[in-house]
Amino acid sequence: MPGCLFCNIVAKSTPAQIVFENDHVLAFKDIRPVAPVHALVIPRQHITGIHEATPADVEVLGRVLLAARDVAEQLGLAEGGYRLVVNQGKNAGQSVLHLHCHVLGGRPMAWPPG
Ligand code: 5GP
Ligand code: ZN
Repeated sequence: MPGCLFCNIVAKSTPAQIVFENDHVLAFKDIRPVAPVHALVIPRQHITGIHEATPADVEVLGRVLLAARDVAEQLGLAEGGYRLVVNQGKNAGQSVLHLHCHVLGGRPMAWPPG
């Protein structure tokens, strides 16, 4: 989608520290990490958020989750555990309108979240 930051990262017209990619998804380090390990997994195709996903997106949504698992493994989080987060809309603080799954780890995570 024109003007979408994460579409630009997919197109590699905006640089990012890519840690994983396949035909369906891309994963890269978050520019402002909130944990010792903080990566984002996004579908290559533009989906605005989880609330805008449709049944036609079911495969790519599964691929995002499996890629998040693989990224967690690759970044050394499998043993200690990690958290996957999808923010949706205003109250969740979604700031980039291209679906993304945060992979967070390297320290204990509080619950409930803030
Ligand atoms: P949200 O708040 O929408 O759930 O998450 C968006 C995330 O994207 C934030 O954690 C933010 O730090 C990250 N982010 C914003 N702009 C960029 C960028 O240009 N490059 C990278 N790698 N991450 C970004
Ligand atoms: Zn996009």
